[in-house]
Amino acid sequence: MKPVLICPKCGRSEEQVRFIDAFCIDDYPLNIKAPGKEELQRCKRCGRMLFRGEWMAYDEGKIEKHILGKCRGEFAGASYDFGRQVVAFTIRRGDKELKVEKQVPLIVTINMCQRCNQISGGYYQGIVQLRGNRAKVERYAKMIAERLEKVTFISKTEEMDGGIDLYVGSSKAVLAAVTQLGVRALITKKLIGREEGKRLYRTTFAIRL
Ligand SMILES: [Zn+2]
Ligand SMILES: [Zn+2]
Repeated sequence: MKPVLICPKCGRSEEQVRFIDAFCIDDYPLNIKAPGKEELQRCKRCGRMLFRGEWMAYDEGKIEKHILGKCRGEFAGASYDFGRQVVAFTIRRGDKELKVEKQVPLIVTINMCQRCNQISGGYYQGIVQLRGNRAKVERYAKMIAERLEKVTFISKTEEMDGGIDLYVGSSKAVLAAVTQLGVRALITKKLIGREEGKRLYRTTFAIRL
């Protein structure tokens, strides 16, 4: 007759509880490490997250991968449950499989990203002045804005009799957009001050349509 296993830690027998090797499933020594917590900053205005030093779209897949990348030990699989804030490990020992969970709180700090900070402060580096035929001005303003919003921001749009002015976060981005669209712009650069030894310019792109 095969002897009945008794768990050396809790004293239960294999008739009462599942066993893995010499231990019951609850006391089986697991060498699994998970981070104590994960911290994340999110922007209250745009909802993006600060991830590996960069602001980007909030992405649970990236966060999960990052947390799981910090877990160590012998497990066959793992996933992160955002609702319950646990890492669920799947462990295989021979033909037995068990699930183990470890708490990894996700601590989210609400902050404001640099871009939103600048937008709310009315910051701009460049002004796009579109002048000419009203319908054309509107069409180009839309096309330029679409391109710019992918790489920077428009902090203000001013409509006036003669056309539209766009106040843009990055002059470099304006230059790229204007070049891509193949429109001719009269560029004037104005020194507006210095910051940390660097000259600060404001660039106006006057476009006649
Ligand atoms: Zn036990
Ligand atoms: Zn933001």
